[in-house]
Amino acid sequence: MVCALGIEGSANKIGVGIIRDGEVLANVRKTYITPPGEGFQPRETATHHRQNITGLVKAALAEAKIDPSQLDVICYTKGPGMGACLHVGALAARTLSLLWKKPILGVNHCIGHIEMGRLITKAQNPIVLYVSGGNTQVIAYSNKRYRIFGETIDIAVGNCLDKFARIIKLSNDPSPGYNIEQLAKNGKKFIKLPYVVKGMDVSFSGILSNIEDIADPSRRKNKRKKEDPEEEYTKEDLCFSLQETIFAMLVEITERAMAHCGSNEVLIVGGVGCNLRLQEMMEIMCKERNGKLFAIDERYCIDNGLMIAHAGAEEFGSGSRMKFEDSSVTQRFRTDEVEVTWRDD
Ligand code: MG
Repeated sequence: MVCALGIEGSANKIGVGIIRDGEVLANVRKTYITPPGEGFQPRETATHHRQNITGLVKAALAEAKIDPSQLDVICYTKGPGMGACLHVGALAARTLSLLWKKPILGVNHCIGHIEMGRLITKAQNPIVLYVSGGNTQVIAYSNKRYRIFGETIDIAVGNCLDKFARIIKLSNDPSPGYNIEQLAKNGKKFIKLPYVVKGMDVSFSGILSNIEDIADPSRRKNKRKKEDPEEEYTKEDLCFSLQETIFAMLVEITERAMAHCGSNEVLIVGGVGCNLRLQEMMEIMCKERNGKLFAIDERYCIDNGLMIAHAGAEEFGSGSRMKFEDSSVTQRFRTDEVEVTWRDD
């Protein structure tokens, strides 16, 4: 039985979670929200995290109704992520480790997402689609590693959505992707965009600049005939068309991974994974293959401390240890670098 506290702060959320032998005891989180048209910068985001981490640790302990002495390990996100933000989580974890005299363990953020999804949905050995602001990967477990079958070759799918939201000045509250999803529901016209699947990989940066040309009238004047009534689009049409296009690409590579691995389960994790239209499209594909879709809601899908606590508890429980002096962070840390010591299939 492992009781773990986890700290996540790799991007614009700072979260603390506590788990005891797979039982969720606490999961609290604060999001740094910037004004419409603006993204989050590392320095300001790290300041936000520093201002909130102490309060979140106290809130998590109160929610879990436990004393720090009952914890077995303090886990934090080692990477990947934004350096300045990762450092806040690591510093907090080192402080708590010394203060409470508990071992410390750095966790791979992507593994956190995968294990959180498996815990909540009880999916045994699914093909995993991990989609967020910083990551886009199709993953399958084999021989002690989460292997990356396909991924983005440029920006992440969530980054494409976030940047598009900034172009059309959508609110970042609660998240740009959520607001795109709501507008897309009222989209009437499908605008043809590039569809960029290369083998098992996907690319979003060209799609983003293409839709940017369409959305921004000043750029559009040069490239498209303004007087053509067919060229009139609403924001809703743009959101709808962007979602349909990029989600179809993700469904395609996920389906190919299922076929390759002979798997009939899909698990979607990461912040973009709580998009209901993506879940719906994936579900249609799964049903056609007699497969099953596993998805989770925003509490567990969007970056959170609980996923770090849980993946850390699994790793710690299987005997992994980290020396205190190794408790650093790394901005680049691929999913397949971690040996999955806690699975014996
Ligand atoms: Mg994430």
